[in-house]
Amino acid sequence: MRALTTPEMLEVWERGLAESPLQRSLMLISAAAAEPIEATARLSAGRRDARLLTLREWAFGPHLAAVASCPRCGERLELSFRASDVRVEAEPEPAEMARVEVAGYELRCRAPNSLDLIAIAGHRDRAAARRQLLERCLSEITRERAPVTPVTPVTPVTVDQLPDEVIDAAVERIAQADPQADVRIALSCPQCGHQWQVLFDIGPFFWSEIHVWAQRILRETHTLASAYGWREMDILMMSPWRRQFYLNCISG
Ligand SMILES: [Zn+2]
Repeated sequence: MRALTTPEMLEVWERGLAESPLQRSLMLISAAAAEPIEATARLSAGRRDARLLTLREWAFGPHLAAVASCPRCGERLELSFRASDVRVEAEPEPAEMARVEVAGYELRCRAPNSLDLIAIAGHRDRAAARRQLLERCLSEITRERAPVTPVTPVTPVTVDQLPDEVIDAAVERIAQADPQADVRIALSCPQCGHQWQVLFDIGPFFWSEIHVWAQRILRETHTLASAYGWREMDILMMSPWRRQFYLNCISG
C-alpha cells in the first residue's frame, strides 16, 4: 500500500459520494493497494481498519481530533489523540480460524470481513444477523459427547442447532480475536465526572475528513485556475505548500 496522491484521493472521493460508508472504505484501500475491491473486501474488518488508519496517517498526519457530548450532562468535549493511541498491536494473521469453546461446543471460525458485514446488513433482527454472521465465518462445530463413547468423542453440529447464548458468546470471541475492528476510547467528563466509552470507527471518521478536504482543494483550484489560467491537474499535482503560496499571492 502507498499514500494516495491528491488527484487519486479526489477521484475516490468523487466516486464514493454515492456509495455506502463501508464501500467508501474499501475503495480507499483498494486504490492505495492497487488491488481489486473484491480482495480488499476479504480482509478481516480489523485488518481493513488498520489499513485505513495507516492511509489516514499518511494523508493527514498522526494527530486526530473529534468532538463528543457527555451523555449525562451534555457537556461538549474536544478530543485530541494520536493514530498510535487507537492502533491495536498488529497480529501476524489475526483470527484466522480461531478456536472457540462455549458450553460444551467447540467452534472453529475466522474473523468477519466486509463481505460478511454487507451480507448481514439487511437484517432487522439482531439475533438472526449474529446467527448468519457465525454461519458465514464458521468452518466447523463439534460437540463434546459424554465420555461413555470413547471411540468418537465429538459429534458434528450445525449452526441451527446452537442455542442463542452459544452464538452470542462465539460472536463475542471472534470479535475479541480481531480487536482493531472494535476500538473504543475511554472518556471522562470534566464537568460532571461521568465516565464512558465511545466507539472509534476509522472509516466514517476518515471519510468525513476527506469530504471537507476535497471541497477545500476544489475551491483552491478554482481560485488558482481563475487567477492564473492553470490546468486543474497541474494545480492538483502541486505540493500543498506551493498551492498555499500562490493563494497567498492572490489574496495579497
Ligand atoms: Zn458530563
